[in-house]
Amino acid sequence: MKFNEIGLHENLLEALDCMGFEKATPIQEKAIPKILEGDDLIGCAQTGTGKTAAFILPILNKIIVKNYKHTSTLIIVPTRELALQIDQQIQGLAYFTGATSICLYGGGKAGDWNIQKRAMDQGVDIIIATPGKLITHLIMKSVNVDTIENLIFDEADRMLDMGFYEDICRIISFLPEKRQNLMFSATMPPKIRDLAKRFLTNPFEISIAISKPSEAIAQSAYLTYDAQKEPLLASIIDSKKNYNSILIFTSTKRKVNGIVKSLRGKGYQVKGISSDLEQKEREDVLLDFTTKKTRVLVATDVISRGIDIKDINLVINYDVPKNAADYVHRIGRTARAETKGEAITMINEDDMYKFKNIEKLIEKEIPKQQLPKELGEGPEWKTNSKRNGGKKFYGKKKKFYGKKK
Ligand code: AMP
Repeated sequence: MKFNEIGLHENLLEALDCMGFEKATPIQEKAIPKILEGDDLIGCAQTGTGKTAAFILPILNKIIVKNYKHTSTLIIVPTRELALQIDQQIQGLAYFTGATSICLYGGGKAGDWNIQKRAMDQGVDIIIATPGKLITHLIMKSVNVDTIENLIFDEADRMLDMGFYEDICRIISFLPEKRQNLMFSATMPPKIRDLAKRFLTNPFEISIAISKPSEAIAQSAYLTYDAQKEPLLASIIDSKKNYNSILIFTSTKRKVNGIVKSLRGKGYQVKGISSDLEQKEREDVLLDFTTKKTRVLVATDVISRGIDIKDINLVINYDVPKNAADYVHRIGRTARAETKGEAITMINEDDMYKFKNIEKLIEKEIPKQQLPKELGEGPEWKTNSKRNGGKKFYGKKKKFYGKKK
């Protein structure tokens, strides 16, 4: 489903367009209309399903439509990392709305307190907070939650695992009773149901399960700098002489053209497919690939879902897909109909956090291969890498993190 069919404000559609989000993910398709209607919601969904945008978009829509002049939204999360990730998505999605947000979490520097307080005094639309830090601010009366109308719990199961139950109850005792409540959790144990029963009103329930990739797909990955990707690609293709069907995925149409050009320059027979092509041209390119006339095809996610081409030997992810579910769809193009297949992903430094989310989602650690010697060393696998390099931002947001098309 396209986002403009869901009833979102045009300023949000513009941001989605800039960020390259073309279609709503299943959880977005189900959750956004319900949240827009004002219902409470409980969603069972993991990171990688697009759950963050599933609650941010309708909340931003509400902020635009209601034109609040006060802090309307509180997002409670278990960790500082998640707070920062959510904040970053808000910055992208809220770019054309003027809505502002602030992160409150523990473990920062001594001066953070004053910066946070100053930002809140100026007024923010959305507060994203870890429970402990929020309680400190509530006790010190440095945050005002009297006007909160939207309360979101993210990764609720993790918060309970970390022992935040009492803190959450305490925070809620500070909030106005009339609110819309949304709760997201990767699992749905009885204690989460109890929490939901206690604080949500007739919640609409959504559960998004992602199927795991077939065991018949041999998955591996390379840690690479961007400059190493083109020679690595050529080296992989060269080393798979017995493969007669190789599908390369990349995230943007522009990159499709670049990869096609580079491989052709090296003498490979290769074609590209993206939404730039007319329907008839796309069909012709796909037909040539299906019939093995074309050995190597470079594609965007346009064809990661749905197409059923038999005997694709290898799927190469030239970059890590934005959405973890797309990884499963992309590599699922190989090893169809009981055959075996291989999937190789190139991970640059910026994509490590995304790849970790994918590994979490599919509950499997993907082996990282050594780069061919002639390419030199790649980046190190950082298990605590953060998308924004851990930068903090307090106060009014002016930066846009999404990609302009
Ligand atoms: P989340 O499950 O919220 O952690 O989202 C996982 C990743 O998917 C994030 O990097 C988002 O930027 C990305 N994402 C969310 N929704 C979409 C969408 N509709 N299309 C493409 N990417 C998306």
